[in-house]
Amino acid sequence: MEYIFRAYDVRGVFNVDVTAEAAARIGMAFGTFLGGEGRVLVARDPRVTSEIFERAFSSGLASTGIDVYLTGMVPIPVANFATARHSYDAGAYITASHNPPEYNGVRFRHGDGTGYTKENAEVKEIFFNGEFKLAKWGDVGEIVELSPRQTLREYEDYLLSRLKLERELKVVLDAGNGAAGVIAPYIFRKAGAKVTTLNAQPDGTFPGRKSEPNAESLADLARVVSSIDAAFGAGYDGDADRVVFVDDLGRVVQTEKVGIIIAREILREKGGGVVIANVECSQIVEEEISKHGGEVRRVRVGDVFVCEAIKQHGAVFAMETSAHYFYPDFYPFDDPILVSLKLASILSQRGEKLSQLVDEIPSYPKLHKNFPCDDRIKFQVMEKIIQSLKEKGYTLDMTDGARVVLEDGWALLRPSNTSPLIRASIEATSEERVQELLRLVEREFEEALRKTKRD
Ligand code: MG
Repeated sequence: MEYIFRAYDVRGVFNVDVTAEAAARIGMAFGTFLGGEGRVLVARDPRVTSEIFERAFSSGLASTGIDVYLTGMVPIPVANFATARHSYDAGAYITASHNPPEYNGVRFRHGDGTGYTKENAEVKEIFFNGEFKLAKWGDVGEIVELSPRQTLREYEDYLLSRLKLERELKVVLDAGNGAAGVIAPYIFRKAGAKVTTLNAQPDGTFPGRKSEPNAESLADLARVVSSIDAAFGAGYDGDADRVVFVDDLGRVVQTEKVGIIIAREILREKGGGVVIANVECSQIVEEEISKHGGEVRRVRVGDVFVCEAIKQHGAVFAMETSAHYFYPDFYPFDDPILVSLKLASILSQRGEKLSQLVDEIPSYPKLHKNFPCDDRIKFQVMEKIIQSLKEKGYTLDMTDGARVVLEDGWALLRPSNTSPLIRASIEATSEERVQELLRLVEREFEEALRKTKRD
């Protein structure tokens, strides 16, 4: 069962990897970690098993003395917002994010709505050693049911008090039958947009499309956007912490390009600032952000690490290649509904088409390759790669794995947190250069693997 505890959350197939019993024990472990005191907000996505998981988890949590507040099915940014707004000591969100419908799990949040990092390992340790600190029968926590409507309304009021459209825009929102459907269309309409929805009805079997938003699952969205001449389309995942955009021509837009378009507007408003991007983001981020008075800081992959970097650097915007966006002027955690609304607001002010703004930013060839590598040796292999690259005199950025930085491109090698793989990402200004870098990376991997096996 060890593998259900991942770097940033707990996830597995329900009634195979995780049961109601395990959910209760995870609740007990979380409550023990929190010291058996305080108030925790618990929310969930629309998965078929989310309510069972929520009830079992909350029972385990309350049995340690924690008061549990259930706010039902709302998007994760809404739950994070409510956790921070009402000064809860922590939050928990029942979801398996964009995984297929048979999965479920939980994500722990700090009182400010940001995700757990190293604390996940501590909860995991308590779960496996079974040393739960349970309350005496008279000291157990309460379980209080809150109105999801009230939670949604507070979130909506906050966003609309700060963001409106200058003129009406047509937008298409594809909630993928996930949690975004309960709020995103209403906020957009109230902000002044003309909204067409796809898969807006929450349904934990995800009948409309795969929960992971990508070019394949958003083909319907792309068709609708171009056929009704909308300004853009937004496709969300199950818990609504990710969004992939489609421009007015029906093209899926690279995450970094949308990030740049929003970030440079914020930089203009603020007169500069720090923008956070993970190590996998394109070099166009540095190129474009520096033109607008911004400074880019790179962070390791994982939305929870981005939150930490935002707080550390006082950043004004952040983006991740996995389609997470952060707008810290509102709060330090990622919110795809907020950034979609900000994008609509920018387009309504500027009167330019999204496709024009997208095409003004250069595109460089990029390539990903996974090298299968046994979990027991992948970190040794990685060390040998780093050693060899250093000996050859390459400039390395060691933020996450090893990133070879060259004048006209870069290559990143990074051991996967979740699979027996070493992942390679390569980008350069020409296709030939990408292929050259690929050959370099392949050679380094094979040599390191051979050496590790020989040792
Ligand atoms: Mg997600």
